[in-house]
Amino acid sequence: MSVQSNRREFLRCSAVAAAAAVSGSGAQVMAQPQGFGGGRRGPAVLRLAIQENRLPGETLTEKLDWAEQWGFEGIEPGGRDLPERVEEFQRALSGRQIKMSAICAGFEGCLIAPDKPTRDQAMESMKRILTAAGELGSVGLIIVPAFNRQESLPHKEARVLLTGFHRWDRRPEGGCDCLLGELGDHAVQHNTRILLEPLNRDECYFLRTLADGASMCKDVQNPGIALMGDFWHMTWEETSDRGAFLSGGEYLKHVHMASRRRRSMPGEDGEADNYIDGFRGLKELGYQGDVSFECGSQGDRMVQIPAAVELLRRQWEQA
Ligand code: MG
Repeated sequence: MSVQSNRREFLRCSAVAAAAAVSGSGAQVMAQPQGFGGGRRGPAVLRLAIQENRLPGETLTEKLDWAEQWGFEGIEPGGRDLPERVEEFQRALSGRQIKMSAICAGFEGCLIAPDKPTRDQAMESMKRILTAAGELGSVGLIIVPAFNRQESLPHKEARVLLTGFHRWDRRPEGGCDCLLGELGDHAVQHNTRILLEPLNRDECYFLRTLADGASMCKDVQNPGIALMGDFWHMTWEETSDRGAFLSGGEYLKHVHMASRRRRSMPGEDGEADNYIDGFRGLKELGYQGDVSFECGSQGDRMVQIPAAVELLRRQWEQA
């Protein structure tokens, strides 16, 4: 084959690959849903969010009042009882600046369990929470394929079950016949996403780095499947905060924040709590999603939470 025909063949294959990448899972072609969290474009901004159970206050209204007073723009509830709380959140968020952020787990079962009933339980449970998440305009439901405490399939089998075959010529007709493909389709129907969360090795072995999570997103090619990064887990597993976020690229839609030694409020672990390198990565990406507090406090939350907000705003400026 001549150089020229080699080049023509290369361009033809590139065009096919690009078309496949754009069209996603074959017959299940779906447009990227617009207007829900995390889909914004433009210069990076530091949008802080916080998990519901980290806030002071007896009622949801009191918690939202504190969050808004401290400048948070998103609230992140757990997923367990979200389907029963949709109206409560809609009422409480009505007329406020603060919006629904990601939904943190709360599902049952295990996606890569050896037995199908446990996998089915995870699928059904995640779909129920995704439906509620969509009603609330959430960027997505945070999931972990399997925790270390759960029995799971060998890594290679688990990966194929979740993401299908990575080779285009081995993909079944009509799309990606895989669990994340099915969940992604359900998420897109409800204007939200699945957010894969890499954890540190104490909690999970299957998915520990953002690059591996991004690779799974790339395999599935479904706008309903995306990725998040958690500074706490990244502290142990990643060699570079900036590099990790950049490896997540366009798939990165959410970030968790904590101090880097004790998983407390940022700043409570002193010099260790430096996020500037990671923030540089987020800025390079033009990141528009939330940076959400998932952390306790060793001290008085009424003091530590606003101090952490101030620290992060300062480091964002320095990045
Ligand atoms: Mg987390």
